[in-house]
Amino acid sequence: ELEVALKVVIVGDGGVGKSSMIQRYCRGTFTRDYKKTIGVDFLERQIEIDGEEVRLMLWDTAGQEEFDAITKAYYRGAHACVLAFSTTDRDSFLALHSWKLKVENECGEIPTIIVQNKIDLMDQCVVGPDEAELVARALGCRLMRASVKEDVNVSAVFRALAARCLAD
Ligand code: GDP
Ligand code: MG
Repeated sequence: ELEVALKVVIVGDGGVGKSSMIQRYCRGTFTRDYKKTIGVDFLERQIEIDGEEVRLMLWDTAGQEEFDAITKAYYRGAHACVLAFSTTDRDSFLALHSWKLKVENECGEIPTIIVQNKIDLMDQCVVGPDEAELVARALGCRLMRASVKEDVNVSAVFRALAARCLAD
């Protein structure tokens, strides 16, 4: 039986919770100061979708996103993308458009989900619900709200992406 392997890239400004999301999904843990394990490009998790085994490889950046220095190797061969921003960081929301373009330049059109992370901090929210929906629609992406800290919707994001890839 053929196993499906999907490379998923997680992009967005520094601090929005990308590494935490990968760690949460693949290792089931959450820490305040997650540092990328040196020498590891991605973590993986196997799931089943409609009876099909899917191996998800979630690629992390080593903080290069802060210097706009993500290499082509990071994007190469990606099948799907998570575009992440933080509920408490308006700049990270405003950067979604530019992240979408970067991925598109390297990968073409691939299934992409916008994730508003840190919804456990809704009392400090700096992005209106309607404007988030508007931007998602403008970029042609589904919007999902998540809290990596409280483990809300993290699995759902990757399951939805994998399902989209299998349907294509
Ligand atoms: P990255 O730079 O995008 O990889 O972000 P990190 O994964 O390093 O997370 C940055 C900070 O946000 C860390 O202190 C995390 O613990 C914290 N963080 C990540 N996800 C959440 C969340 O859902 N809620 C809260 N309150 N903090 C989070
Ligand atoms: Mg990180």
